[in-house]
Amino acid sequence: MIPGGVNSPARAFGAVGGHPVFMASGRGQYLHDLDGNRYLDYIGSWGPMILGHAYPPVIEAITKAAERGTSFGAPTENETHLAELISRAVPSIEKVRLVSSGTEATMSAIRLARGATGRERIIKFSGCYHGHVDSLLVSAGSAAATLGAPDSPGVTKGTSQDTIVLDYNNVHGLEMAFDAMGSTIAGVILEPIVGNMGTVIPTQPFLKALRELCTKHGAILIFDEVMTGFRVAYGGAQSILGITPDVTTLGKIVGGGLPLAAYGGRADLMDNILPVGKVYQAGTLSGNPLATAAGAKTLEILRDESPYAYLETQAKRLGEGLAEAATEAGYPNQLQRMGSMMTLFFNDAPIVDWPSANRSDRKRFAEYFWGLINEGVYMPCSQFEALFFSREHTAEDIEYTIDAAKRVLKTMASRE
Ligand SMILES: *Cc1c(COP(=O)(O)O)cnc(C)c1O
Repeated sequence: MIPGGVNSPARAFGAVGGHPVFMASGRGQYLHDLDGNRYLDYIGSWGPMILGHAYPPVIEAITKAAERGTSFGAPTENETHLAELISRAVPSIEKVRLVSSGTEATMSAIRLARGATGRERIIKFSGCYHGHVDSLLVSAGSAAATLGAPDSPGVTKGTSQDTIVLDYNNVHGLEMAFDAMGSTIAGVILEPIVGNMGTVIPTQPFLKALRELCTKHGAILIFDEVMTGFRVAYGGAQSILGITPDVTTLGKIVGGGLPLAAYGGRADLMDNILPVGKVYQAGTLSGNPLATAAGAKTLEILRDESPYAYLETQAKRLGEGLAEAATEAGYPNQLQRMGSMMTLFFNDAPIVDWPSANRSDRKRFAEYFWGLINEGVYMPCSQFEALFFSREHTAEDIEYTIDAAKRVLKTMASRE
């Protein structure tokens, strides 16, 4: 009844083969499938579930909101409350608009950059994912300053011709692009810490060049923090990298497990949005009361109970344990991590961009993935995704996961 049986392709296990598991429920650190199997969850709905599944205070906030009515198409108090929580948390955000998905947030941020500058070109980096926005479904070509060719049928050449694709962490490519086209570049969009080619960390020279070149040429620097916002730190990647973007997109955690995302930035820039300015962006369900209830409650808990030091301790141990498991089995590996997002790459060299990520051993990853599923550990079903865990994962859960990885990898090695 549904193409591929899934409503989002990453769920389809296409990268590891076989059929996806249908889930019935989730609680805390666990997911339960329709056959009654229990899994320790390291996907967390691809990012949002930092407090674990069905966390009672969040469920209570959603339930109370539902009883007051599910949508009004008019402003509500909690939208302002959530906007305030967001702008106090994220250094670059003075004003913010709420939307319903990360895709909508990045699409709107790009429109804002183009509307505010009167320019058309956008720079993105291969391997970075920004949702299924037509002009961003372009990642082909590792050569510096190649003009984008669409990656998906249905995206026209006209739409993608203004997208310039560069390699992540490549300062020289960035300089060349600005030298050649600086006065026509509306903005640069990137994941400031990448999760969508697996976890990749930006270098300081790359970050510095991004900020300097955007400022010098009047281009808008957009940090897509849909994944990293409230994950790597309460204030997102920008609060730890020391670089302030002009516009930031948020999603995933900011909605507390409901469909909500946001984009925000300097007040003068955000005032280009209708009805103050002329850049159009709207949504029937934008700022939906259930979603703002879940989002605001989640952010309040993260603000008041800051779980980040605890997550860091668990993550450090998990990362070291997974890398050790791979090394003991004789497999070259790179464990790349920032806080509670990380990727174990089956690769003998550090991953700095898409070409280096792409040299990882996907077949080995697929075996590892299925081995772990059989141990009751549910990892992201691709070598090119970050794993996440929640505050509910205990030290025992982490040790169980490392032991499971050791069993799986040892068995794999013994079969080779
Ligand atoms: C998940 C993600 C998106 C897209 O968000 P959706 O809510 O799936 O549309 C955009 N950017 C990044 C960095 C993401 O991780």
